[in-house]
Amino acid sequence: MALPLFFHNRWLLAPPNLHSLESSFIAIHLLHHTTATAPQPHNPTEEDEPPSKLPPFHHTEHNQPTPIKELLISAIKSASHKTHLLQLHAHMLRTSLVQHPAVSLHFLYRVALSGPLQDHSYSHRFFHTITYPFVSHYNTMIRASSMSDSPQKGLFLYRDMRRRSVSADPLTSTFVIKCCIRFLCLFGGAQVHCNVFKDGHQSDSLLLTSLMDLYSQCQQCRDACKVFDEIPHRDTIAWNVMISCLIRDKRSRDALSLFDVMQNSKYECEPDDVTCLLLLQACAHLNALEFGERIHRYILERGYGAALNLSNSLISMYSRCGSLDKAYEVFKGTCNKSVVSWSAMISGLAANGYGREAIEAFEEMQRLGIRPDDQTFTGVLSACSHSGLVDVGISVFDRMSREFGITPTIHHYGCMVDLLGRAGLLGKAYQLITSMPVRPDSTIWRTLLGACRIHGAVMLGERVIEHLIELKAQEAGDYVLLLNIYSSAGHWDKVAEVRKLMKEKSIQTTPGCSTIEVKGIIHEFVVDDVLHPRKGEIYEKLDEINKQLKIAGYVVEPSSELHKIDDKEKGYVLSYHSEKLAIAFGVLATPQGTTLRVANNLRLCIDCHNFLKTFSWVYNRDVVLRDHNRFHHFRGGRCSCNDYW
Ligand SMILES: [Zn+2]
Ligand SMILES: [Zn+2]
Repeated sequence: MALPLFFHNRWLLAPPNLHSLESSFIAIHLLHHTTATAPQPHNPTEEDEPPSKLPPFHHTEHNQPTPIKELLISAIKSASHKTHLLQLHAHMLRTSLVQHPAVSLHFLYRVALSGPLQDHSYSHRFFHTITYPFVSHYNTMIRASSMSDSPQKGLFLYRDMRRRSVSADPLTSTFVIKCCIRFLCLFGGAQVHCNVFKDGHQSDSLLLTSLMDLYSQCQQCRDACKVFDEIPHRDTIAWNVMISCLIRDKRSRDALSLFDVMQNSKYECEPDDVTCLLLLQACAHLNALEFGERIHRYILERGYGAALNLSNSLISMYSRCGSLDKAYEVFKGTCNKSVVSWSAMISGLAANGYGREAIEAFEEMQRLGIRPDDQTFTGVLSACSHSGLVDVGISVFDRMSREFGITPTIHHYGCMVDLLGRAGLLGKAYQLITSMPVRPDSTIWRTLLGACRIHGAVMLGERVIEHLIELKAQEAGDYVLLLNIYSSAGHWDKVAEVRKLMKEKSIQTTPGCSTIEVKGIIHEFVVDDVLHPRKGEIYEKLDEINKQLKIAGYVVEPSSELHKIDDKEKGYVLSYHSEKLAIAFGVLATPQGTTLRVANNLRLCIDCHNFLKTFSWVYNRDVVLRDHNRFHHFRGGRCSCNDYW
C-alpha cells in the first residue's frame, strides 16, 4: 500500500522552521487556488463561517492573528483532497496550533461537515485531541452527528459538554434536538427542553420549532401544541410542523383549519409549497374535495404550479376524493411526468374502478420509456383485483420480477391474494400465502379473511383466524369479518360463541364513521350519531328516504347485521349506519342534483350498498363513497364496482 503523501513531504520531517513552514503553506494555498474549482458548501443558517464566532482564546495571548494562522486557515478552507487535510493536521500537531480555537474549528468543520472531505470517525478523533473545546466545536460535532448514522453520539456530546460546564447556545440545543428526532429519543429531548429554560433560550423560535417537531414525531401532539403556543414569532416552518403534527395525530380537520388561521391578520404567515403538500394529504384523507380545489387555486396563484411533487400530490388528492376527471386534467398538464405521476394516476384509476384504463396507462408509460417501480405495480395489481381481471393480474405479477427485476414485496403478494380471493380462487390464494418467500403478516391474512366473507367460506375463514391468533395480531375487525361469515351462513350458535369470546377478551369493534363535505366544511357521523346540531332533521330525513326507497323496492339486507334478532329490529339498527346519516344530511344541506361525496372508515356493508344504489336512482343523485380501500360511484341504481368489493 502506498504511504500517504505527507510522509514523503520533506518539510514534515525537517525541524520546525517558520520560514520553511510558511512557504509550504503558501505552496499548498497556491496549489488550491489553481486546482480547486468547486465552491465550498454553504448553509446560511449555521456558523459555517467559524471565524465570525471566534472563542475568547482569540482575544488573549493569540490576539493578533499571525500570517501563519491566516495562511493555515485559508489552506484548511481551500483543501480539496484528504491528503492535504492530513498534511495540515500534521503541521497543526507539530506547531501546537491544534489547540488554537479558530484553527481547530476550521479544521473540524472541514472533516465533520464539509461534503466530500467529511469523515465522521476522523472528526471524532480530532475533536478528542482538543483540550478545551468551545461551544462552536461542540455545535459542529453535534450537528454532524444529527446528519450521521449515529445520531446518539450527538446526545452524548451534549451531555459531555454540560458536564464540562461549557454553556450551550440555542444552536447547540437545536442540533441536539435534531439528533433526538433522528432516533425518536423523547426522553433525551425532554432533558434538552428542561435545559433550554435553564439556559434562558425559551424564546428562540428556531429552537422551539425543532422541539415541537420532536414532540410531534414522538406522537406527543399535546406537548407539541404547548411548545407551538410558546413560540414568539411563528414562521411558515413552525406552522408546517404544527400541521404535520395534527395530520400525524389523525386530526386532519384541525390541520385544514390552520390554513386560514395562519394567514389571518394576527399571524400574517404565508403558506408555502410544503404547507400545500401537507394540506393536500389531509384533503385526500378526509375526502375534502372543495378544500383540495382551494389549495389547487392557491398553488396556481402563487406560481407553485410547475413543481412536480405538488402536481403528483394533486393527482393523488383528486383521485382519492373520487374526482378522477380533475386528477386526469392535472396529470395531462404535468410536464416531465415522473414514475410517481404515472403511479399516482394508475392507483387513482384502480381505486375508482377503472381497471382497464389503469392497464392502458401502464402500457402507455412503458411505450414512453418510463420504467415502472414497485408502486406502479401495486397500482396495476390492485386495478386488476378491483376489476376482476384475474389473468391480466397473474401475467403482470409474473412480468414484474422476470422482465423488470422487481422483487415482489408483501404488498404485491397482498394484491395477488386480493385478486385471487375476490375471484373466488380461495384455495390458490391460501396456497400463495403459504408458499411466498416473505413471512405473511396480519394484513395479508386479513385480506383473505375479507374474501372468505364475500364467498361465505366458513372453514377457510376459521383457519385464517387461527393464523391471526398465532401472530397475536387479531383485531376487532377480524372477529367482525368472522361474525359476518357465520351470520351469512346462518351459524347463529357460532355467532353467539364469537360474541361471547369478544366480550370476555373485551374486544371493542371500531365504530363506523363517515364524513361528508358540504360547502368546504367536513361533517362527521358515527353510527347512531346523536351529536350533530341538526340531529332531529337528519333522522326525520332518513326516515323519509327509507320510506321512498322501500316503495322503489329496497329491502333491508338482514345478513349485514351481526345479532340474531328479529327482522324488524335488524331493519332499525341498520338504518342508522353512519353512511346513511351522512347521506341524509347531504340531502338536507345541498341543492337537488349535487353529487354527494362520503368517506367511510370501514368496509361498506351489503345493506348500505343496496341502499345507496336505490338512492342514486330514486333521488337522481350521484354518490361517490370511499370505503376503507376503494371507491363506489353510485349512479342511476348501479355502482361502479359492479357489486364486487
Ligand atoms: Zn352499512
Ligand atoms: Zn360498489
